[in-house]
Amino acid sequence: MQDVKKTLKTYIQAGVTELYQDNSRNLISEKTAKKAINKDNLDNAAKKSGLISELKPINQAVKEAKIQADKAKSLSELKDILSKFEGCELYKTAKNLVFADGDENSDVILIGEAPGASEDEQSIPFCGISGKLLDDIFRSVGKTRDNNLYITNSVFWRPPGNRRPTDEEIAICRPFVERHIYLKKPKLIILIGGTALASILPNINDTISKIRGKIMQYKNPYLDTEIAITAIFHPSYLLRQPLKKKIMWQDMVMINNHLLNN
Ligand code: URA
Repeated sequence: MQDVKKTLKTYIQAGVTELYQDNSRNLISEKTAKKAINKDNLDNAAKKSGLISELKPINQAVKEAKIQADKAKSLSELKDILSKFEGCELYKTAKNLVFADGDENSDVILIGEAPGASEDEQSIPFCGISGKLLDDIFRSVGKTRDNNLYITNSVFWRPPGNRRPTDEEIAICRPFVERHIYLKKPKLIILIGGTALASILPNINDTISKIRGKIMQYKNPYLDTEIAITAIFHPSYLLRQPLKKKIMWQDMVMINNHLLNN
């Protein structure tokens, strides 16, 4: 029994979310049903496949997330509400909630993808290898977490096996991220990497390479006025593609100039 438990724990930490069962499954009909669901043909597809029981909780979880996010009147209240929120399954496999780090009074909020193993262990965003590079990059233009930077993520718990968060997990966390931005009231939002871009600006289909280096405008249902927003490469991409650091430097100069002039 202990061995089975140990094996299951290893599977969960490695990102396994499904086990094959004795009953056979019609994967083709599930695939067709999922496609139809994407086209908003919810009722028919769900009825045929029995997937409705999988879908309903996601919609409900997004609704519940919004209800909970609405309640937060301060950053500490938001953190407290998130620590009790059970609508995003990621909390089950994560060790800790990873909320935010840095200067709450800074003009800048950085939003990354999701916590990794070090972040999950220490409950601090970007405290691993890519976080160290991110700190070095911002230090080069005189900005640190103690003074001028506030950092968070698009999801607040580590996805098992460090996989990319699913669209559903991102959707469930989005109301909290939107409330986070509203409560933080930054002058500039910096999205770190493609997942943050997809989470915060879902209508933009371009890659970071295409949209980096520009200041755009951002609004969400909590905000009365727009906030300046830009996107940069994820530091883990720079670790794999060091030549891109030159472009990152150009973005840092652009961001610094924007902050000096606004
Ligand atoms: N990568 C992220 O996007 N966020 C973290 O907190 C750590 C690594």
